[in-house]
Amino acid sequence: MKLSQMLFVTLRENPAEAEIPSHKLLLRAGYIRRIGSGIYAYLPFMWRVLQKVSQIVREEMNATGAQECLLPQLQPSELWKESGRWDTYTKAEGIMFALEDRQGRQLGLGPTHEEVITTIAKEMIQSYRQLPIHLYQIQTKFRDEIRPRFGLMRGREFIMKDGYSFHTSEESLKKTYQDMDQAYRNILTRCGLKFRAVEADSGAIGGSGSQEFMVLADAGEDEVLYTEDGKYAANVEKAISIPKKAKSSPFNSYEKRETPKCETIDKLCNFLGCSPSNIVKNVLYEAIFDNGKTVLILVSIRGDQDVNEVKLQNELTKLAHNYQAKALLTLTVPDETAQKKWASKALPLGYIAPDLADDYIEKQKDIEPQFLRFVDHTAVDLKDFVTGANETNYHILGANWGKECNLPKLMVDLRKAKAGDISAHDPNQKLKTARGIEVGHIFQLGTKYSEAMGATYTNEQGEEKPFVMGCYGIGVSRLAQSAVEQSYDKDGIIFPVAIAPYHAIVVVPNISDTEQMAVAEKLYNELNSQGIETLFDDRDERAGVKFKDSELIGIPFRITTGRSLKDGKVEVFKRATKESQDININEVVSIIKNWVETAIKS
Ligand code: ATP
Ligand code: MG
Repeated sequence: MKLSQMLFVTLRENPAEAEIPSHKLLLRAGYIRRIGSGIYAYLPFMWRVLQKVSQIVREEMNATGAQECLLPQLQPSELWKESGRWDTYTKAEGIMFALEDRQGRQLGLGPTHEEVITTIAKEMIQSYRQLPIHLYQIQTKFRDEIRPRFGLMRGREFIMKDGYSFHTSEESLKKTYQDMDQAYRNILTRCGLKFRAVEADSGAIGGSGSQEFMVLADAGEDEVLYTEDGKYAANVEKAISIPKKAKSSPFNSYEKRETPKCETIDKLCNFLGCSPSNIVKNVLYEAIFDNGKTVLILVSIRGDQDVNEVKLQNELTKLAHNYQAKALLTLTVPDETAQKKWASKALPLGYIAPDLADDYIEKQKDIEPQFLRFVDHTAVDLKDFVTGANETNYHILGANWGKECNLPKLMVDLRKAKAGDISAHDPNQKLKTARGIEVGHIFQLGTKYSEAMGATYTNEQGEEKPFVMGCYGIGVSRLAQSAVEQSYDKDGIIFPVAIAPYHAIVVVPNISDTEQMAVAEKLYNELNSQGIETLFDDRDERAGVKFKDSELIGIPFRITTGRSLKDGKVEVFKRATKESQDININEVVSIIKNWVETAIKS
């Protein structure tokens, strides 16, 4: 392609709308253009990158025996009502764009496709003989994200590969899950990315496991905890670890003491001269379930630890039926305004004890009249601890469970693992932290959707059984941008060869020089005919501008027909290493072909 004939507009300045390097660079280099919040046009370079990523995804998926299809983006609400997700997706979370057609029927724009695919399986798969089956698609998804940001990283319209598999047994599901694990590793390796596969939270869905694929980059929205021996890696939402031992308590007899202005752990420790690990802190949460019920929660946890809210959400989801609810809608630390809705009197904030009286909750319809009390394992083991006295400016010291404090019945792991903790698999390993961009997520769903939607097959014994399902997503557009986030320098993008929009660019420093033009044109044609996807910068621009642009857009190899022509050579520049060398004109095509092939293979 000749640049003079392309829509080719680069920006020298960083666009104000972009915060992270990859977003700035993709805008500056003319790959994408913002059309609205979380809505982007994929311009010709970007579209080529996306097609290359898609092709790699497709090849690796097909190699596992999965079959490509294309499912509708417009989805009737009935399917989502069957699975029980319509209200949560359109109202509670509000992630699904919902609309009404001219006949007054409700439809949603697909954020994901479990409902559609399960309906197809229900109607088309009758017998165990037809299983296992794995279908996938590469398609635009719609999600009304609360905070669309970072360009293609979190869009409201984005491209995803989503696959769904159907099985007769957990065993068969595990086999496909393993195949997907390998396929995803192959995809990311072929795209030239540094990544880590991590244990992930399976959330409300349960099932026997899920794994995320994280592209490692400082701008990543996720935190990964891992050990150096390579045996453990998990999303912080899911991670477990062994906390440091608590210091022994300096308070061996019980007393209530005045502790003015000690509403934080730090202030209290300073005032009392004790360690945060001597304290039981009591964190207040407010949960709202899908039937409108509000439940107030108290979590007692050791003072040097934090609550993992994802773990807490999972516990609450398990208890939803106790409140005649199906799902948890929101979980928040209630601020003053929120407290006013249910508190009968001012709460002793900062001085709360595990047994804060239930009469702080005003009797009202839709508000559970009692606190739901959890205690984390780190607090259960404490002796002679410090905790609030349920009275502002007072704490109790030297307290013990069963004596001065009742131990909450719900003893669970709610602790957030953190860097520096001892790993659960080996006491010699400590957890380390890294930032990651979640580009893929594979999931053992089990029978959640098939049971909800009555999707069954007949097994060998002639019994009706729900399908055992798996689902596997990879964010094609997010992956493409994350490649840039992982590979750039001050001059621009450094695309991995396998997904670069073009492999090479021929630059003519001076287009009025007929020899320069003739050699360039010849090389451009030869390279393309040899399968090296090549651009031709034949614009009437200064050489400096052309060099800058070629570096900004990140084309791996640049060939310049300049001064060395007099020796029968051209200058060849490698974008990744910035090495330049002069190569004989008659050798350059085969050399570059070799470089491209080697890079794509490795
Ligand atoms: P996140 O936690 O980042 O919101 P998710 O867990 O909701 O993502 P999945 O439903 O697992 O996402 O979707 C599969 C993949 O699709 C993700 O791993 C990610 O790569 C991609 N993806 C999800 N949401 C977006 C988005 N808003 N923009 C771009 N890609 C996305
Ligand atoms: Mg996910």
